Amino acid sequence: DEPLLAVDNLHVEFHTRQGVAHAVNGVSYSLNAGETLAVLGESGSGKSVTAQAIMGILDMPPARIPAGEIRFHGTDLLKLSDKDRSQIRGQRIAMVFQDALSALNPVFTVGWQIAEMFRVHRGMSRGDARKKAVELMDRVRIPGAKQRIDDYPHQFSGGMRQRIMIAMSIALDPEVLIADEPTTALDVTVQAQIMELLAELRQESNMGLILITHDLGVVADVADKIAVMYGGRIVENAPVHDLYRNPGHPYTKGLLESIPRVDLKGQELYAIKGMPPNLLEMPSGCAFHPRCPYRRDECATAVPPLYSISGTRSSACHYWREVFDGGSR
Ligand code: SF4
Ligand code: MG
Repeated sequence: DEPLLAVDNLHVEFHTRQGVAHAVNGVSYSLNAGETLAVLGESGSGKSVTAQAIMGILDMPPARIPAGEIRFHGTDLLKLSDKDRSQIRGQRIAMVFQDALSALNPVFTVGWQIAEMFRVHRGMSRGDARKKAVELMDRVRIPGAKQRIDDYPHQFSGGMRQRIMIAMSIALDPEVLIADEPTTALDVTVQAQIMELLAELRQESNMGLILITHDLGVVADVADKIAVMYGGRIVENAPVHDLYRNPGHPYTKGLLESIPRVDLKGQELYAIKGMPPNLLEMPSGCAFHPRCPYRRDECATAVPPLYSISGTRSSACHYWREVFDGGSR
């Protein structure tokens, strides 16, 4: 069966004065209705660029998509006309960005900005659109929505502004919602509340949800499955709980060991040594090899394929068995 959304062997490059940056190098993932996929990686891993390609906001220089497919209900979005694409963008596939303050227009009330979605895309009257805006503010649990609809963005807290952004992103009942680091600017308690809200909305509407994050801790309770990205590739796929219990890639293992754990107070945290790869000069072989405690000579020359570990798990490490067995560094 064709999934709701399938990214298939996607490549994205940026043509810069310094050369060609290979931002996404053959990424594949899929998402079904009602499912939550977390895409995890450092900045520059290609996680946001992949999302931007899905949204169709990369189809112009300096970005180029030399290969791959992005299928939505089986149709390759990369082959659609601009007009057909714009019918999907923001409507059937929507996105929430990290920085709610700069995404909201400071000179218009939040109610006006939410209502505008319904006026522009659904041709609603001012009065009906305003009613829908209040409904949506309720749906994203903004207390006193009716009283606050004529407030301006700066009158809301960071967490409430992010709820407003989420309200706008779900206004047109998207089938897929992509949230790119939606909680990074917020404090820890509010982060958890926003994640909970996204999970609830996903459940209410059976959306497919893609959570992009650099923070494994934030997605643990809400994601079904995780794709870990490094150097523009997926290095590990796993159901979220399996990945926590037993990571199958040295990079994932390093990430897990660098999360503070309440039950191990005082324990020294392990930080992954070295820098993320330079996309203009990707390391040969396994892109992680300059930082990898498991590396052997072969790693500098042979690019590891995504080895299948089980029906739901895969790892792009030649030595995944060792990592899997909890082998020591
Ligand atoms: Fe490390 Fe080699 Fe595995 Fe890459 S292939 S993650 S360098 S052990
Ligand atoms: Mg990003």
